[in-house]
Amino acid sequence: MRTRLALAAALLAVLAPAASAGDAVLTCGRLFDSRSGALLGPHTVVVRAGRIAEVVPGRGAAAGDARAIDLSDRTCLPGFTDLHVHMGSQSSPQSYSEGFRLDPVDYAYRSVGYAEKTLAAGFTSVRDLGGEVALHLRDAINQGLVRGPRIFAAGKSIATTGGHADPTNGWNDALSHLVGPPGPTDGVVNSVDDARQAVRQRYKDGSDVIKITATGGVLSYAASGDAPQFTVDEVKAIVDTAKDYGYRVAAHAHGKEGMTRAILGGVTSIEHGTYMDEEVMRLMKARGTWYVPTIYAGRFVAEKAKIDGYFPDVVRPKAARIGALIQDTAGKAYRNGVKIAFGTDMGVGPHGDNAREFLYMVEAGIPAAQALQAATIRAAEVLGVDDQGVLAPGKRADIVALPGDPLADIGNVLKVDFVMKDGVVHREPAR
Ligand SMILES: [Zn+2]
Repeated sequence: MRTRLALAAALLAVLAPAASAGDAVLTCGRLFDSRSGALLGPHTVVVRAGRIAEVVPGRGAAAGDARAIDLSDRTCLPGFTDLHVHMGSQSSPQSYSEGFRLDPVDYAYRSVGYAEKTLAAGFTSVRDLGGEVALHLRDAINQGLVRGPRIFAAGKSIATTGGHADPTNGWNDALSHLVGPPGPTDGVVNSVDDARQAVRQRYKDGSDVIKITATGGVLSYAASGDAPQFTVDEVKAIVDTAKDYGYRVAAHAHGKEGMTRAILGGVTSIEHGTYMDEEVMRLMKARGTWYVPTIYAGRFVAEKAKIDGYFPDVVRPKAARIGALIQDTAGKAYRNGVKIAFGTDMGVGPHGDNAREFLYMVEAGIPAAQALQAATIRAAEVLGVDDQGVLAPGKRADIVALPGDPLADIGNVLKVDFVMKDGVVHREPAR
């Protein structure tokens, strides 16, 4: 943990001074084509007004005012997308008591550092699946007040009473009576009507995507991590109402029954998917449902469960049991042909270490090229956007570069040292 923190501090120190989006010509030694999954030879990428204007083989020269950026000893890739983060928090043994002591503004200040570390690690986009902070952080980043990735934010996750993301779980009677039972405004639903209202409330809050917690969760203050927590009708009501606002729905799910109900209800992606079996995989393939494994979070909580006192007693056995299974499930899902996209659940682990998920995916048996596609072109498909995830004319100029060949050694993804987002250079190698 301490080394990771030191590493994160070092990353922050090398962020380039904020620059405006000028035109640029990048000379890349190699270029990852996320459409084919192939690593191509030298290419020149021309950036104009925040977009990619041209991608041509060979070494081109900068013309006019365009800035020449020499990455001839590096591999250029589309900026990475992490489809499952929580920018407003980072777990620690103090997390459970902090909720009673800290104010929203404390979480907001913390999120500024998390956002900078995430961007510096090569993640130019994230989908934030739960937490009000991300809605405001997104706006601050878009306004240029804070540096960070493009955020697609869910706002408050939608749960049922006592479910994963009921904000009052674990509270004593006095507190619970003071506040009263949470309802759709707080993201807690217990009927089809509640479900519709909760989605409309997210629209009012300014969400970009809807997140539901279809089963119990590892880190919530509750006994079960895998029991189903919605009816199919409630999920359907959420998905249908979400469509009215152009939203997609992501479902946190560990247990088979809750996962099945979420898929039948029409969600776009299953997150974690711990106890996914072949029957569930068949259903996902038939319905075109995506799988976002978040192996990182599984490994992280299983490791921390070995430490006395790190988690409350009600959480510890779930962390040890569920956490250890996710990597295995990810490998099986890949071999079964389930569509896989990249996500870490960062905020469980330390922000900025997101790229380690690539290594865990490769360890699980997913080829490096497919892992890189999962965080680029496939992630854009899950988001429902067609202007990122590919280095091609017309797309956003979200470009990262790293030394070495990431297909030959996936560990090279941890060495990202050039980051451009919307044509703005946020990090570059020391020369
Ligand atoms: Zn999560």
